[in-house]
Amino acid sequence: MTIAYNKLSVRVRLGALRRNFQRLRRMAPAAMPVIKSDAYGHGLMPVARALEAAGADAFAAGTVDECVQLRDGGIPGRIVALLGATDADDAECCVARSIVPAVYSADQLELLASRAAPGQQVDIALKFDTGMARLGFTEADLPALLDRLHARPMLRPVLAMSHLAVSDDPERADFTRQQGEAFARILAGVRAAWPAAQGSLANSAALLAHPELHFDVQRPGIALYGSNPLRGTPQAHHGDGLEPAMDVTAPILQVHPLPAGRSISYGRTFTAPRGMTVAIVATGYADAYSRGLSGRGAMTVHGRRVPILGRVCMQMTAVDVSDVPGVAAGDAAHLLGGPGEALTPDDLADLWGTISYEVLCLLGMNPRTHEE
Ligand SMILES: *Cc1c(COP(=O)(O)O)cnc(C)c1O
Repeated sequence: MTIAYNKLSVRVRLGALRRNFQRLRRMAPAAMPVIKSDAYGHGLMPVARALEAAGADAFAAGTVDECVQLRDGGIPGRIVALLGATDADDAECCVARSIVPAVYSADQLELLASRAAPGQQVDIALKFDTGMARLGFTEADLPALLDRLHARPMLRPVLAMSHLAVSDDPERADFTRQQGEAFARILAGVRAAWPAAQGSLANSAALLAHPELHFDVQRPGIALYGSNPLRGTPQAHHGDGLEPAMDVTAPILQVHPLPAGRSISYGRTFTAPRGMTVAIVATGYADAYSRGLSGRGAMTVHGRRVPILGRVCMQMTAVDVSDVPGVAAGDAAHLLGGPGEALTPDDLADLWGTISYEVLCLLGMNPRTHEE
């Protein structure tokens, strides 16, 4: 017999993404999808096209390169580069293609101003640090920043942004509220000079749980991809109905008995306590299926949850199918999604010891197909 695909494959259901977007839009009509990092592993262009068809009129990507792909791929409307223009090429691309770069340093202002043609207006997004301490001007920087901008009238701030550190944790709502207050003061300062500038603070968690922090534009990422950032908190219900959009499968290469007392895989970390049936699945850490799942992860086969036995190898992983009748070589094992006891990105992240964001970005680097 032959097995059609000999490794892990990813299926992205665009319909699920569209329904998630529409659900978020009902709560936040100005939601701007965050599609950085290849749309969290779901595919930059297919996701952008699907959401654009569903009514998205602005997008936030990460690098300027991603924004160029979007623009050259025919995405109209506003495209924001969250990571900003980091060199002269980036600045050139932003100016030439009406990409709105996040700006977080005086050097970037100079770079962009120097690329503007005479009489040309360059739209920029000002990035402020209100508590992440990552990138951004601080509240104390504001007066000098405004002076600098006044001296460079070719630059037009159309957006002021900041990012929340703990909006997914209701127990630390104090810090989120303080970030909101700092941002409101900053936005007022920017608006005093550019009344049309829009404010944007809310990520997925704040979009869902903090309507008072919506300002003008919201930036949902993970919720679009069907993971609820409030899961496990008293506010989890705000994310009800979000659907994961990524299914990941790998074929079973062989099914065989594992007699009592026999160990399996490198390091002999698992020994069968009784006669078992194991399936060898064609995936491993070379597909970014983490070796950290050794002895603690699970997949589903024929809709049933099956535990990983022993160590995950480079291109193979063993699962216990003793309780699943009729499993044969060529059958699919689901690493994410599928029928029955499907693993969500959050389920897999818990087993993996990480967050759904990382699971999606990593598994999404594998060969991918898109469907409705
Ligand atoms: C990634 C990102 C988001 C989206 O965050 P989620 O938690 O995925 O909703 C929003 N804003 C910025 C600046 C980001 O980098």
